[in-house]
Amino acid sequence: MNATTDLPLWFDPTRCFIGGEWVLPNGQETLPLENPSTGETIAHIARGGADDIDHAVSAARAALNGEWGRMPAAERGRILTRIGQKVVERVDDLARLEALDVGKPLKQARADALALARYMEFYGGAADKIMGETIPYRHGYTVYTLREPHGVTGHIVPWNYPMQIIGRSIGGALCMGNAAVLKPAEEACLTAIAFAAIAQEAGLPKGALNVVPGLGEEAGAALAAHPGVNHLSFTGSVGVGMLIQQAAAKNVVPVTLELGGKSPQLVFEDADIDRALPFLVNAGIQNAGQTCSAASRILVQRKIHDELLARMAERYRALEVGPAMADLDLGPLVSARQQEIVSGFLANLGGARIVAQGQIVENAPAGGHYLAPTLLADVSPDNQLARDEIFGPVQVVIPFDTEEEAVAIANGTDYGLVAGIWTADGARQMRLAKAIRSGQVFINNYGAGGGVELPFGGTGRSGHGREKGLEALYGFSVLKTVAAWHG
Ligand code: NAD
Repeated sequence: MNATTDLPLWFDPTRCFIGGEWVLPNGQETLPLENPSTGETIAHIARGGADDIDHAVSAARAALNGEWGRMPAAERGRILTRIGQKVVERVDDLARLEALDVGKPLKQARADALALARYMEFYGGAADKIMGETIPYRHGYTVYTLREPHGVTGHIVPWNYPMQIIGRSIGGALCMGNAAVLKPAEEACLTAIAFAAIAQEAGLPKGALNVVPGLGEEAGAALAAHPGVNHLSFTGSVGVGMLIQQAAAKNVVPVTLELGGKSPQLVFEDADIDRALPFLVNAGIQNAGQTCSAASRILVQRKIHDELLARMAERYRALEVGPAMADLDLGPLVSARQQEIVSGFLANLGGARIVAQGQIVENAPAGGHYLAPTLLADVSPDNQLARDEIFGPVQVVIPFDTEEEAVAIANGTDYGLVAGIWTADGARQMRLAKAIRSGQVFINNYGAGGGVELPFGGTGRSGHGREKGLEALYGFSVLKTVAAWHG
């Protein structure tokens, strides 16, 4: 027994959760799960396929026609709230699973588990508060709208924040009375399966949530293409997002795409640098930079460029990278493949200069996928390091002279997910919040502590549709207009 690698498995990860039953995948095959901190296999998960997805979609449909579909909204809300409470009771186990599976430092994994609980609390409370309206119409008519569930919703999620993304996506869908089929990522999905076990314990009716682990091109593609699915929610890369949208088009179903980003933070010479510094660095290195909303570009007004760069560099040099369970500033990257991708970017600096790097601790296991966080300067805005999503702990610092130039650089990528503005000038804050093309803009902060309540989503190649907050509930439901003539 090794206290740093033991998994708290109170469920069988080699099974799918379908129609309230724990079933082996039809092909009876499993996939290995790696601990990115050591390179060791820590568990096996089900390799679900098209048959299992078909089974799950049927189970979801049966739930809509059964107890779940008839359940009053208030009761749905109570169940979601209860799931949240059970997540809190299991917070240590969930944090440990996520840390060992994803490679993220334990305290961060714990914060993710608490965010999952908070999503359940938020959407539990909202379930009976989303209403239609009455519409003044012609004499003799009464017209009103109903907000109804889509039906069966398909959810395909990535490995970087499994608990948070399940919380926002499944939480919103169940809140509105949909029945969900979840395909978690093959790299890290223990907490997705654990979540199903918790939902079952909390009394979620059978079939309301179904979880089919497996490969993207097998279970994922089957879910995206399934004609019995009425809405798709996808979080992941731009390339796969395009495939999902094509699959959705063939069945003419709506799709929410939460894709990548190259988010900027703009720092003006009048900014409170002491307050900004931890936000600037943390937004680049959190989860080893494997965050869709990572602030991978820091745009800084030239007058304070050298000072800010020096202060960021000082912080970078103090950053420690090591195994997730050592709970340092950064853990490893999720896989050898991810490590290769990020290293590839760093092998192609194209004139950029490495200003500072953090340290990988000496006793970090040789099989782990560690990479020192890296701060870059002298990066021209057209360098791929300044344009492409790296999805690793790499930040570029780019100088600007005027507000117009800052906006042009900020808007100069194909993405538009999140932006930060650091300035004391209130009028500039308002101008920039409008001028920057982005789904979220933070003024004198970044990320606002996760913000379960705050609608989130992209523009451009960052995707479309909104999750989180109440806004998500309009996406997870469909409006029906009822016009009654009574004379
Ligand atoms: P990915 O697109 O490779 O995988 C995401 C999910 O899609 C996984 O479950 C995978 O199994 C599945 N998938 C893969 N191929 C598929 C196919 N052909 N058909 C159906 N499903 C398929 O993404 P990733 O590398 O796991 O995640 C990283 C990306 O996700 C980054 O670009 C990141 O920015 C993005 N992301 C976005 C958000 C957001 O909210 N905007 C949040 C987290 C991550």
